[in-house]
Amino acid sequence: MIIHNSTFEISAVRPSQWPEGGLPEFAFIGRSNVGKSTLLNRLLNRKNLARVSSQPGKTRQINFFAINEQFRFVDLPGYGYAAVSKRERSEFASMIDKYLLEREPLCRIVQLVDIRHEPSKDDVAVHEGLAQLDVPLVVVATKLDKIGKSQVPSHVKKIRQTLQANVPIYPVSAEKRLGLDELWALFESDLAE
Ligand code: GDP
Repeated sequence: MIIHNSTFEISAVRPSQWPEGGLPEFAFIGRSNVGKSTLLNRLLNRKNLARVSSQPGKTRQINFFAINEQFRFVDLPGYGYAAVSKRERSEFASMIDKYLLEREPLCRIVQLVDIRHEPSKDDVAVHEGLAQLDVPLVVVATKLDKIGKSQVPSHVKKIRQTLQANVPIYPVSAEKRLGLDELWALFESDLAE
């Protein structure tokens, strides 16, 4: 994918702020600190478009980015951050649910998990919910550079088993730019549909 331009559009706190225009949307979701902002920046060849969060979980909004005036990346708030109150958590869960259930241009959900660790209870619960939606889903295993090459198959297998995933799992490293072309190829095939 050649990125001609990528622009941050809005941090939406309410559905009424979601952009109009109907461009296909790729939504990214994962635990705080999984490497979501870093991956978004790398995919778009931008240093700091999606903020790399110094305060995990503080991104409480849904961030929309328009790319090549052709499609959007949608950065959903990180889940699983203990210092957020229960009430706050449930408010955001309902906004994310609303987005995932009702957003018509949503064409792909990207769930991020850390390749180093067995997926958390939150990861498993989120995956179960996402798998029930009528939207193509992919799991991206981040921070591939943090494990040895020979460990990759067993870690991917563990992730698949724990999530009970029957969707593709793409190992990537934003840091070392590994696996990004494969992910773009998937997105391009989504756009071609
Ligand atoms: P977010 O909370 O999901 O947006 O996570 P960030 O993008 O802020 O990343 C959390 C931490 O993981 C930061 O210290 C990043 O530098 C680090 N990180 C992100 N991606 C990678 C990666 O591919 N490899 C390595 N080694 N570290 C990464």
